[in-house]
Amino acid sequence: MADKRDYYEVLGVNKNATEDEIKKAYRQTAKKYHPDLHPGDKAAEEKFKEANEAYEVLSDPDKKARYDQFGHAGVDPNYGAGQGGYGAGFGGMDFDLGDIFSSFFGGGFGGGRSNPNAPQRGSDTQTSVTISFEEAAKGCKRTVQTMKIDVCDECHGNGCAAGSSPKTCPDCHGKGQVTAQQRTPFGVIQTQKPCSRCNGRGTIIDNPCKKCGGTGRVRKPSTIEINIPAGIDDRQVINARGQGNKGINGGPAGDLRVVVNVRPHPIFEREGYNVWVEMHITYPEAVLGCELEVPTLDGKVKYNVPAGTQSGDVFRLRNKGIQTLNNRGRGDELVRVIVDIPKKVTEKQKELITQLSKELGTTGTKLGEDKKNIFGKKKK
Ligand SMILES: [Zn+2]
Ligand SMILES: [Zn+2]
Repeated sequence: MADKRDYYEVLGVNKNATEDEIKKAYRQTAKKYHPDLHPGDKAAEEKFKEANEAYEVLSDPDKKARYDQFGHAGVDPNYGAGQGGYGAGFGGMDFDLGDIFSSFFGGGFGGGRSNPNAPQRGSDTQTSVTISFEEAAKGCKRTVQTMKIDVCDECHGNGCAAGSSPKTCPDCHGKGQVTAQQRTPFGVIQTQKPCSRCNGRGTIIDNPCKKCGGTGRVRKPSTIEINIPAGIDDRQVINARGQGNKGINGGPAGDLRVVVNVRPHPIFEREGYNVWVEMHITYPEAVLGCELEVPTLDGKVKYNVPAGTQSGDVFRLRNKGIQTLNNRGRGDELVRVIVDIPKKVTEKQKELITQLSKELGTTGTKLGEDKKNIFGKKKK
């Protein structure tokens, strides 16, 4: 595989760039190389993909932190595939060591009074996906890969090596509690305490399973398809119920929380469920009116700009916005018209505009010559 370019370099920002600066830089780069604007241009398409990839990492605080620390290896899901791959914990497969321990050991039995045999819900896991502006507007499906704690398939969860099974603890005879006797000046006091040999479980494993070390649980890669509903916005979270870490003692599994990052669009901007777009027209078009081809999420639509349109005027295309979350409705598209003032004109254009200027009865006859007059008038 060819060496990847530095993601900061791809977007042309420095390492200290803020979230907003990264977003802005992405929009500019995406606009420059968007396939719609360069049909059939392979080089532009590659640049566009590269910008998407860079944005996916730099816009996500977790991935950005891993990238800053480990470079491309920190965020590439294929990294280390030959050496155990997934095990590295990189590439969007987030996990929390604390979670694993609390799941393995029953959440602090040692310190508290909780029963180690009681059902306990598995902890939640988290990952993130990045989708395009259009996908967020219309909904999409994504396959996500995560790591989760699940039943060890070597021992089917009982923690014993093949051919053996858990034994009743000889110290507590399976009760999980032992009676301690203590001599005091007032006589012998009996107290119940958790059996230390079996940690209160009532059973012991002589020959633990090699794969899970006797816990009956292992971390495994898990692949699930997530339905991302239309209307979802940047940084919203989808909860995939029961797709997190396996519960303990028959308790329910935790949830997988999927943070959805939405890439900004090069020309559309979202505001609630409405979409803003800016269209540029010329001065004659504004004066006389014109027909515009306006890009929308459903493709281009024709719109008749009325005569006498002012720069900054906004018109509304009903139901051309983003689909409302959990609802059939849609927002609108709002089109802001900008009247362009040309910075350079040809001699011919200059002549015509000068004539127009005379016709309109404005002060100028030739640009520049009347400056004196203008200032003279102001002084009066
Ligand atoms: Zn096992
Ligand atoms: Zn015991």
